[in-house]
Amino acid sequence: MEQLEEKQPYDVIVIGAGAAGMMAAGTAARNGKRVLLVEKMEKSGRKVRISGKGRCNVTNARPAEEFASQVRTNAEFFAPAFAEFNNRAAIRFFERQGVKLDIERGERVFPKSGKAWDIANALLDYCVDNGVRILYDTRVTQILTLGDKVFGIRYINKRGFERKEECAQVIVATGGVSYPATGSTGDGYAFAADLGHTVEPLRPSLTPLVSSHPQIGYIGRLLLRNVRATLYVDNEPVREEFGELGFSERGIEGAVALRMSRDAVDALIDERRVKLVVDLKPALTEEILRDRIARERAEMETSEFFGELLRKLVPKQLVMPLAQELDIHSKTYVGKITEAEVERLIRTLKGWTFPVTDYAPFEYAVVTAGGVRCDEVNPYTMESRKVRGLYFAGEVLDLDANTGGYNLQIAFSTGRLAGMLKK
Ligand SMILES: Cc1cc2nc3c(=O)[nH]c(=O)nc-3n(C[C@H](O)[C@H](O)[C@H](O)COP(=O)(O)OP(=O)(O)OC[C@H]3O[C@@H](n4cnc5c(N)ncnc54)[C@H](O)[C@@H]3O)c2cc1C
Repeated sequence: MEQLEEKQPYDVIVIGAGAAGMMAAGTAARNGKRVLLVEKMEKSGRKVRISGKGRCNVTNARPAEEFASQVRTNAEFFAPAFAEFNNRAAIRFFERQGVKLDIERGERVFPKSGKAWDIANALLDYCVDNGVRILYDTRVTQILTLGDKVFGIRYINKRGFERKEECAQVIVATGGVSYPATGSTGDGYAFAADLGHTVEPLRPSLTPLVSSHPQIGYIGRLLLRNVRATLYVDNEPVREEFGELGFSERGIEGAVALRMSRDAVDALIDERRVKLVVDLKPALTEEILRDRIARERAEMETSEFFGELLRKLVPKQLVMPLAQELDIHSKTYVGKITEAEVERLIRTLKGWTFPVTDYAPFEYAVVTAGGVRCDEVNPYTMESRKVRGLYFAGEVLDLDANTGGYNLQIAFSTGRLAGMLKK
């Protein structure tokens, strides 16, 4: 067998030139390995190139403990990979690759240029400069094994012909199933399952929430800053978040809703009742808000309309939907508004309730929750516990985190560790 391996042209084949795959391939090549990187799309890192709305939130600079608290699944499994290549190491890595970085609000790290392409190209350069051979437009269809050991891959080359490449070590870095147009279509889950691994059920995460609220359609596209929202499952509060909340044709989004989506999706799958209660004025107590409304009304002519009072309290786009919600015509004279109606307004501003009836599909989800079961993978090497020479890295694993740069760091840390090819 060893003689056979010596004849093989590559020491390792990496499947998928995304964040994890490029980190793994570059690392192995830098350590002197002969590396083949196989990518089914026409270019590398398509998801990285659109990440962070084209700016790429490349990692998060928070201290290790705080970082770990943002990893939603299998944080313990992730710890050794993070210890090997943490957020500081990632920052140093990209700076050494010539990408200048900035740390923004919430310790989120972005390229100074504001271009996600700089991150994707830095990863690609790392591979190319260390001698990785890359095949584009090439889709791996099967991982070949002999007994419990990897011995190669089968793939369809760019001319549409099936070929085989023998190799004793294969790293699966095929990503999840979110944004499938970027190339992540879940092939790695099928490879893992075929080779006897358990794949934890896949669910969209960091995905917009869909509400049946009748006013949603009238709100249109809107981004609210500094709001507080509470997610309720079966009338119990399960999560509270503060920050940006957006409305769009996809549903309720923005960092607040996305961070809550993990719990909301799981609850909806379990057929539980989910609602989002939004406090539009988190900095004001009900009393202060009552005083503020009284002051605004006192300064208004009695002949002015209720809609104009609302305009002083909320963005223009919310005026009509809010008036509808309160069942008060926006053309009602402000002088005619009753105390009971003012109380209703205060209650709604402090807790506008949106029933959550669904979630946006994988096409709009930032990450995939679920994946290759982590206890079937060695956390110190990323090697499968079932098949020798088979490694996993990145989103294909049952690892996911909040927004804020954590998911790319998961890809970099696990990719780095897998690329070290430790036994
Ligand atoms: C819109 C959007 C914005 C995001 N923004 C951020 C952000 O700012 N910060 C952050 O931390 N995270 C962000 N994420 C999440 C982050 O991009 C992913 O978690 C990360 O890219 C996962 O890396 P990966 O290498 O595991 O998978 P991917 O990046 O998905 O790479 C997998 C690669 O494998 C290839 N592949 C798949 N199957 C095969 C096959 N059979 N043969 C050959 N090749 C194959 C695919 O074409 C793809 O290139 C964002 C995600 C999305 C969708």
